[in-house]
Amino acid sequence: MGSDGERTLAVVLAAGSGKRMGSKTKKQYMLIDGKPVIYYSLKTFQDSFIDEIVLVVSPGDTRFCQEEIVEKYGFYKVRHIVEGGKERYHSVAAGLNSVSHFDYVFIHDGARPMVTAEILDRSLACVRQYGACVTGVPVKDTIKIADEEGKIAATPNRNFMWAVQTPQVFSYPLIKEAYALLLSREEELSASGVAVTDDAMVVETLTGRAVKLVEGSYKNIKITTPEDIQIAEIFLKNF
Ligand code: C5P
Repeated sequence: MGSDGERTLAVVLAAGSGKRMGSKTKKQYMLIDGKPVIYYSLKTFQDSFIDEIVLVVSPGDTRFCQEEIVEKYGFYKVRHIVEGGKERYHSVAAGLNSVSHFDYVFIHDGARPMVTAEILDRSLACVRQYGACVTGVPVKDTIKIADEEGKIAATPNRNFMWAVQTPQVFSYPLIKEAYALLLSREEELSASGVAVTDDAMVVETLTGRAVKLVEGSYKNIKITTPEDIQIAEIFLKNF
């Protein structure tokens, strides 16, 4: 249990198919410096103030993860390994449904190995104050909104643009409520073309609650395409 008697949970997501990587091995299990991608973020959570970790994996990967990751590296804070679903939000819901009675939940993409103790500390301070916060970094590039023909429709002011990352951290009752509402309105939302790609969006859209941005790190990349592995190799050398 953290200081102040707070109970904190991490839901670490590793149930993606990794189509954009184009490799046989799923990106979460690819080796960087001899260890699987998913090892690095689990290690950071394991060594932190987090009380428990739920690891969400693809159907059929539970035994592999139990033996080759959780037991092999002694991640005793991983109390549950659950199977995820088709979309990321199904996987988050599965993770949330496997536990009860926490104060705060840190939802993290297992494909982001460079999360650090400092990022977790900043996120905890932020969620204590605001109840809902996501890590991110101000964008360096100018962002364009495109129309369906690939022509520029708008150029939002870069000073207000952030690229969001994980962890995304919420008070437990808030995130439970937001995901319950999402699942109850899933058909309606997907029929209206809403693509749910992060947790902040679930909270903003379903509960109307404001979500605070907190500083992540430019190194906290999500491994998505093959060049990301090379970048991660450089960053993780001194990890
Ligand atoms: O697909 P994307 O790169 O946005 O995935 C972000 C994270 O969510 C990854 O760690 C991936 O393993 C996880 N994910 C999941 N279940 C899905 C899709 C993605 O756990 N259905």
